[in-house]
Amino acid sequence: MIRVGVNGYGTIGKRVADAVMRQKDMELVGVTAVHPHYKYAVAQQKGIPLYAVDMKSLEALRGSGANIRGTLNDLLQRVDIVVDASPGDTGAANKPIYEQAAVKAIFQGGEEHGLTGTSFVAQCNFEEAAGKSMVRVVSCNTTGLCRTLGAIDKGVGISVARAVLARRATDPDDVKKGPIDAVVLDPTTLPSHHGPDVLTVLKGFEVVTMAFKIPTTHMHLHSLIVTLKKPAAKEEVVASLQHAPRISLVDGKSGFKSTASIMDLARETGRSRNDIYEATVWKDSVTVVGADAYMFLAVHQEAIVVPENIDAIRAVSGGYTRELSMRMTDDSLGIIHR
Ligand code: NAD
Repeated sequence: MIRVGVNGYGTIGKRVADAVMRQKDMELVGVTAVHPHYKYAVAQQKGIPLYAVDMKSLEALRGSGANIRGTLNDLLQRVDIVVDASPGDTGAANKPIYEQAAVKAIFQGGEEHGLTGTSFVAQCNFEEAAGKSMVRVVSCNTTGLCRTLGAIDKGVGISVARAVLARRATDPDDVKKGPIDAVVLDPTTLPSHHGPDVLTVLKGFEVVTMAFKIPTTHMHLHSLIVTLKKPAAKEEVVASLQHAPRISLVDGKSGFKSTASIMDLARETGRSRNDIYEATVWKDSVTVVGADAYMFLAVHQEAIVVPENIDAIRAVSGGYTRELSMRMTDDSLGIIHR
C-alpha cells in the first residue's frame, strides 16, 4: 500500500483525499487542517484522520474539540508521499519541510514548473515522472489543453495551437472573489501563462493562449484554433479525440448547449460532487478549414486534476505502467477507460 497524506484540504485536497480512499493500492493516512471549519468535521465523519498544519493550528483546532492526531510533521513521519494542495505558491514554502522528512511530494498547478522541474499530465508524460521525488500536476486549464492538444498532435500533427480561455471567476464556495458584473482580462497582455505551461509537458509545436474571467463558478470554456501539420478531414480530428483517454465528446443536438448541461450530466449520473474529470469537447464544434481545426473545450476546474494526482502518486512510487495506473484510476472514479 502507498501511504498518502494530503496537505491542504480545500477544493482540490478534498477531492484528492476521497480519490485516494477509492484506490486499492493506497491508504489515506491523514489530511491537514488549518482552523476550525465544518469541512474537517465532515472529513472526520468519513473516518479521515486530521493533523494540524502547525502548532498554532493545533491549539486552535484542539480548542474547538476536534480530534487532532498531531501536526504536519507527525503526518509526514507516517506517509510515503504527500499531496500538497495548499493555496498557490504555498507549496514552494512547504517543499523544504517535505525534503527534511524525506517524503515524496506531488504539487499543484499554482506552483511554478521550476519547483519540481517535472510537470505532469498522465496520458502525456507519465514515464517522465517515474521515480522522481517531486512532481507538479499542472493546472486545470493546462491539463485540459494538454489532453486535447496531445491527442490531436498524436492523431494528425500540430504546428501551432491557439486558445482563447473564458475562465470561471472563482470556485463556488469562494465568496470573497469576483467579478460579479465584469469581464476581466486575465491578464491584459499575451500570452496568458497557460500556453508556456502546456510546453512544460508537450513538445514539438507552438501554443499561444489568451484568457479572461467571466462571472461564473463552474467550468472554463476554451475556443481552440489549431493549425495542423497538413490539411485533414474533420473526421480525423474527431477520431483522434474519440480514441484518447479522459476526453469526452458531447453534441449540441443532444442538448449540450452550455457548460451548465455538462454539470447537469454529472448530477444526473451521480458523480461524486458533480465532478467531471474528463476534458469535454463539443464534437459538433470541430470544424476544419484548410489546415486549421476549430473547436470548443470545457474544463471542470475543481475535478480535472484529480485523476492526474492519483496517477502522479503511482508514477513517483514506481512499479506501475501508465496503462495500469490510468486504468486503476479510471475504474475507481467511473471514467470510461481508453
Ligand atoms: P483552496 O483555497 O480551496 O484550498 C487550499 C487549502 O489549503 C485550504 O483548506 C487552506 O485552509 C489550506 N491551507 C492554507 N495554508 C496552508 C498551508 N500553509 N499549508 C497547508 N494547507 C494550507 O485551494 P485550491 O483551489 O484547492 O487550490 C490548491 C492548489 O490547486 C493551488 O495550487 C491551485 O492553483 C491548484 N488548482 C486549483 C484549481 C481550482 O480550480 N480550484 C484547479 C486546479 C489546480
